[in-house]
Amino acid sequence: MDPFVYEALPSRVVFGWGSLDRLADEVDRLGVSRVLVLATPPQRAEAERIAVMLGPRVAGLFAGAVMHTPTDVTETALGVLRETGADATLAVGGGSTTGLGKAIAWRTDLPQLVVPTTYAGSEMTPILGETENGVKTTRRDRRILPEAVVYDPALTLSLPAGLSATSGLNAIAHAVEGLYARDRNPIVSLMAEDGVRALAAALPAIVRDPADREARSRALYGAWLCGAVLGAVGMALHHKLCHVLGGSFDLPHAETHAVVLPHVVAFNAPAAPEAMAALDRALGEGEGDPALRLHRLARAVGAPTALEAIGMPADGIDRAADLAVANPYWNPRPFDRDAVRALIAAAFAGRAPS
Ligand code: NAD
Repeated sequence: MDPFVYEALPSRVVFGWGSLDRLADEVDRLGVSRVLVLATPPQRAEAERIAVMLGPRVAGLFAGAVMHTPTDVTETALGVLRETGADATLAVGGGSTTGLGKAIAWRTDLPQLVVPTTYAGSEMTPILGETENGVKTTRRDRRILPEAVVYDPALTLSLPAGLSATSGLNAIAHAVEGLYARDRNPIVSLMAEDGVRALAAALPAIVRDPADREARSRALYGAWLCGAVLGAVGMALHHKLCHVLGGSFDLPHAETHAVVLPHVVAFNAPAAPEAMAALDRALGEGEGDPALRLHRLARAVGAPTALEAIGMPADGIDRAADLAVANPYWNPRPFDRDAVRALIAAAFAGRAPS
């Protein structure tokens, strides 16, 4: 057995249908008394409903979270935080809202509660990505990790089937790269395998019936595991490529992950046999290698399968390949510019991975 290091990240998770009812207890348990509720503009009503539920435990509401955590939005939110005298944040939403809570915690060290409503998994990681004047910086620090997370699958019922599918594939990508991470360990690999298993089974059921409570629960459970994997071990070529593609062409986050993943899995498969065996088990009944099955899963749930279809320009393929090899980073299979270019070209056209 290979030697390993395992380090548990300290966060409390309350999971289950109706667990929102326990939110007030969680606020008290954190030892805080006046939370600032955070949300995106479209989720303001949901956040208001939760604020009413919490009553005097709420100092105020800031419903201005947006994608990519721009620092000027964080500054505005910090102003509201000071005005209201809040002593903690409560993020209600997906990765964008959680990102804002993390950006506030990084600057103030105030405790964070998160109520996730997508499958992005940011709530389980000590990672913060922020943008200032269009430039993205990423940092990792314990202060960024939310203290408590309340997962109530009921809040995901409103996530449209299309967003559920891409968000779920985004989560699967965290687990896949965790399975072949250089610093992988047996516990994180167990979480990764079960995360993929839960999501691969739940996503088609959700697309068939977005109100399927059991599938919604399974998917959020899978998202939790996949987020924990992202927080625990290092990522590789897939996350690097998605970062480059998203940043260079302003492509949508979850959709980019959904398109690229099968191609990276096909590329890395020869160098990661144990990860492929775990994926094979996790993807359940089906024929073909894991890359093809992930491609089929994406098609089955109606996710995009071509970068061209989500807004990447054809003349961007070479630029993306240049950027993807500009700085060296670890990947289970060594690669050069030609290999990355071929991979991006295949993902651009939406070809089946090979
Ligand atoms: P998001 O938070 O931007 O949400 C997408 C849209 O869906 C928003 O308009 C939101 O209001 C809406 N929405 C969310 N939940 C909903 C629900 N239940 N019902 C109806 N509408 C809902 O998208 P995301 O994919 O959750 O997060 C993406 C962002 O998170 C990216 O910026 C990404 O970089 C970041 N992220 C960070 C980490 C990390 O560890 N730092 C991990 C994963 C993702």
